[in-house]
Amino acid sequence: MIQISALPAFTDNYIWLLQDPHTRRCAVVDPGDAAPVQAWLAAHPEWVLSDILITHHHHDHVGGVEQLKKATDATVYGPASENIPARDIALKDRDRVSVLGCDFEIIEIPGHTLGHIAFYHQGLLFCGDTLFAAGCGRLFEGTPEQMHSSLTRLAALPEDTLVYCAHEYTLSNLRFAIAVEPGNPDIAERLATVTGQREGGIITLPSTLALEKLTNPFLRTGETSVKEKVDERIGTHNRAPSAVFAALRAWKDKF
Ligand code: ZN
Ligand code: FE
Repeated sequence: MIQISALPAFTDNYIWLLQDPHTRRCAVVDPGDAAPVQAWLAAHPEWVLSDILITHHHHDHVGGVEQLKKATDATVYGPASENIPARDIALKDRDRVSVLGCDFEIIEIPGHTLGHIAFYHQGLLFCGDTLFAAGCGRLFEGTPEQMHSSLTRLAALPEDTLVYCAHEYTLSNLRFAIAVEPGNPDIAERLATVTGQREGGIITLPSTLALEKLTNPFLRTGETSVKEKVDERIGTHNRAPSAVFAALRAWKDKF
């Protein structure tokens, strides 16, 4: 079984480090900066970086790839339809790749960027900037409909799936979530927990899909309470979930 830990980068990025204790090989997801990865490798000289997984082309996710590629023999996996530096393996929807002996399925999740992919392996989801803890990524390239269907697809994975997203945005996302659903006790409870964690400088990830379904407004666009709140703000009625999603995302952009 692989072990997973976070290497913090920049102000709020996490580079996920996957370790196979049997082979002493490791992999990283979205190394926007090579420095934290190289510092870890220098401190753990018995470990070999064998794989680099990329979810999308933004600099805070790919910025360290070329330097790591030069320093190691790692294979670089990334979305086929995006420009990924030093990419060895171009991935499309439903492709399968074996990383550290684990079989990962590729799920295309356009919205934040058009080629954005997620890596899924039995209860582990690396979803970059698409599904965040209590939130979702901004729509830089895709439409609200695309992002809504991407999130719907991720939400259909098993409930106990651990969600490893790429940023520590949970607290600010929950402040928005509680504004959307002031009467949701699960959001209130999570907000209290996460507030305490962040005061202590503790990571709030991974999340689970079960918790996201209870507390993430962007996965709750079919809920009456969320719909009514959007109707109240926009002055409309009977919106389809994707339209509720679009209105929520626009609201969050200015929140
Ligand atoms: Zn991004
Ligand atoms: Fe990012």
